[in-house]
Formats: sequence, C-alpha cells, structure tokens
Amino acid sequence: MTTSSSETIAYLGLGSNLDSPVDQINKARISIRGIKGVTELAFSSLYISAPMGPQNQPDYVNAVMSIETTLSPMALLNELQTIERSQGRIRGDQRWCARTLDLDLLLYGDQVIDLPELTVPHPGMVDRPFVLYPLHECAPRLYIPGKGNVADLLEHCPIDGLRRLESD
Ligand code: ATP
Ligand code: MG
Ligand code: MG
Repeated sequence: MTTSSSETIAYLGLGSNLDSPVDQINKARISIRGIKGVTELAFSSLYISAPMGPQNQPDYVNAVMSIETTLSPMALLNELQTIERSQGRIRGDQRWCARTLDLDLLLYGDQVIDLPELTVPHPGMVDRPFVLYPLHECAPRLYIPGKGNVADLLEHCPIDGLRRLESD
C-alpha cells in the first residue's frame, strides 16, 4: 500500500532555565527527532539571555530547530507538550516563570493560525532576540507571514545582552 502525505517545514523555539538547561535542550532535540512524522532539517547554536518577565529566575538557554513534518499543527503542538511534560515542565499561575523546558511552535509553513490554543506565527517571536537570532541562523532568507523577512526584523530587534554559547 502506498501512502502520500504532504510535508511542511516548521520552526520550533526551545527554551530552558532549570535543571541543566543545555542538557534539557539537547534532550528535547533528541525527543523531537523521535516524533513519528518529524525530520530535523537544522538546529541553531545555543543562546543565553536574561529572563523575560519575572527577573528572580536563572538565565535562559534558547535554540531554534527547523523540521519537516507530516503532522498537523495541533498534532505537532500536542507532541511538543508531551515532551515538555516528560521533562518535568510544570505550568505555574505566573506567566513566563522558570521552566525546565518550553517548546513553542513558531511557524508552520506559511500558515496563519488563530485558535484558542494555537497562534501561528507565534505572537512574541518578532520581538524576541532569543528567537530571531537563532531563527536567522537556521533560515536567513525566511519570510514570516504577515510580519516580514527575518533579516529585516532582526535589524530592528535590539540584541539585549543575548550571547551565543560557544560549542566545543
Ligand atoms: P509565550 O507563548 O509568550 O512564549 P510560554 O511559552 O511561557 O509563553 P506556555 O505556558 O508554554 O507559554 O503556553 C501557554 C499556552 O500557549 C499553551 O497552552 C498553548 O496552547 C498556547 N499556545 C498558543 N500558541 C502557541 C504556539 N505557537 N506554540 C506553543 N504554544 C502556544
Ligand atoms: Mg515560550
Ligand atoms: Mg510555550
């Protein structure tokens, strides 16, 4: 039997600031590669930056991963949330509090999605240096639907202390 399913390129934002953040990001990358219907295309450098929102928490490690997927956007989000939970993500009452792992669906092809539980392009992405810099590394010519080219957006986004972690 032959099956045909269409592949979509999607971009994921990974972040962690608890329990060995670099290990958390690397572990999440392996789990994402293991999702049925997902193939990794690119993975950015790791970046470190001060927290958004509450300041009484450790610095964050962030990265962006591009994938090819046959999953629907909601199915992909569900898989990402399963991985978050498996790495001990606990959602508190406070927004942007410390977490072992945050996996955000930044872009799904050129789709614009406005559902109660899923907004794509991710609403915060164009203002966040820890998303735009690694995203630009993965896809320097990318167009973000309704927002503009990643390179242009980057030019207007203050780097705000973001540092690239040297890999060895
Ligand atoms: P932010 O979304 O501003 O980066 P956050 O990542 O800390 O904040 P979460 O607690 O991880 O927010 O997610 C809150 C809810 O956001 C989730 O339950 C999910 O349904 C919803 N959500 C909406 N759009 C997206 C998206 N593009 N990627 C991931 N979650 C999303
Ligand atoms: Mg987030
Ligand atoms: Mg999130």
